[in-house]
Amino acid sequence: MEHKVYKSVVIGTGPAGYTAAIYLARANLNPLVIEGPQPGGQLTTTTDVENFPGFPEGITGPELMHSMRKQAERFCTTFKTGMVQSVDLSERPFKLQVDGLGEVVTETLIIATGASARYLNIPGEQDNLGKGVSACATCDGFFFRNKKIVVVGGGDSALEEANFLTRFASELTLVHRRDELRASKIMQDRAKSNEKIKWALNRTPINVESTGMGVTGLKVLNNETGEEELIPTDGLFVAIGHTPNTGFLGGQVALTDNGYIQVNPGTTETNVPGVFAAGDVQDQKYRQAITAAGSGCQAALDAEKFLEGSAVHDWSGN
Ligand code: NAP
Repeated sequence: MEHKVYKSVVIGTGPAGYTAAIYLARANLNPLVIEGPQPGGQLTTTTDVENFPGFPEGITGPELMHSMRKQAERFCTTFKTGMVQSVDLSERPFKLQVDGLGEVVTETLIIATGASARYLNIPGEQDNLGKGVSACATCDGFFFRNKKIVVVGGGDSALEEANFLTRFASELTLVHRRDELRASKIMQDRAKSNEKIKWALNRTPINVESTGMGVTGLKVLNNETGEEELIPTDGLFVAIGHTPNTGFLGGQVALTDNGYIQVNPGTTETNVPGVFAAGDVQDQKYRQAITAAGSGCQAALDAEKFLEGSAVHDWSGN
């Protein structure tokens, strides 16, 4: 059981959490960062990161996250490992129940727990992550230059990723489980006018085929004929949505209709004064390492201001 009351606790260790920690620590607030089961977050599952400014030769995801962690440690951030099971945000200081740590008490809280890409959960998918299967076109599209690509999904993300990936692909097939797309009309029009996209609608993915060294195809069930079909491909991009990691909040922080934490526009303030959100858990639009890091910085500055007693919590937009 912890007896200390922290000035600020950060939950999550992606770019948002680490950046928040660096800023809080440099402001002498001695933050505690609670690391979950995947320290470093989603970036630790990618290989080369070529779009994070400052690394002209690129850097691997794990290396980038390791450097951010070291930078936070240098300024006296405390790291502890545990899963936050529940929170009590009804009064300050806030109380967190953390597996392995017991109760953690803090004046301000920064939620940077990210979002998890949804996967198809079919055989061959998880075994080939990083070997042809990806859930991030911006991260990995470049590695499929002049290669065959399959994108799965029928929402805005899938169509946006498919359009983007046609810059690289020699051939691109969009697989969707129904014959009607969920995406907005404008995205559908854009994708349908892209001659490089072939459509495999009404197909349910059933198996990822691979050599063990790389993906060779996606087996699908044709829902019209009931026949199995093999779509040869080098890359499989799964774009069936993300799930923001908010379950442990138990409904105490306001969420958007899509389940992301709602923040006061232009800030990282949630509807609970003293609780801030940064990174993918509150961002369904950009979802980039650099934007997550930026919002982590904002959250730390917002928390610092709040602790100084000068925070403005005005939801009216005035
Ligand atoms: P989404 O709208 O929830 O679409 C998910 C798609 O994946 C659906 O077509 C769904 O099929 C399919 N799917 C889900 N589970 C599946 C499974 N197990 N097997 C096969 N297919 C599966 O998610 P999203 O596309 O990520 O978009 C999320 C939100 O962000 C939306 O509000 C979207 O408008 C927004 N967004 C906007 C933009 C933009 O405006 N530029 C870009 C990206 C996202 P069904 O249709 O059959 O359910």
